[in-house]
Amino acid sequence: MANKVDNCTTCNKSLVETGCVRFPCPVCGNELGRCTSCRQQSNPYKCPKCGFTGA
Ligand SMILES: [Zn+2]
Ligand SMILES: [Zn+2]
Repeated sequence: MANKVDNCTTCNKSLVETGCVRFPCPVCGNELGRCTSCRQQSNPYKCPKCGFTGA
C-alpha cells in the first residue's frame, strides 16, 4: 500500500532529475515530492491528504 510519489506535488512534473526530493508531510507523514525548479523557487506545496501547505 506504499504510495510512492513519482511526480512533484506542486507542478506534477516527474521526479527524474537529480536534485528532486521526496519527503514526508510534517503533519500526516504522507510522502510528498518536489522537483528541482520548485525547490529553487521555493514554490509552495500542498499535501493532498491533510491539506497542509508549506514552502
Ligand atoms: Zn515542481
Ligand atoms: Zn499531510
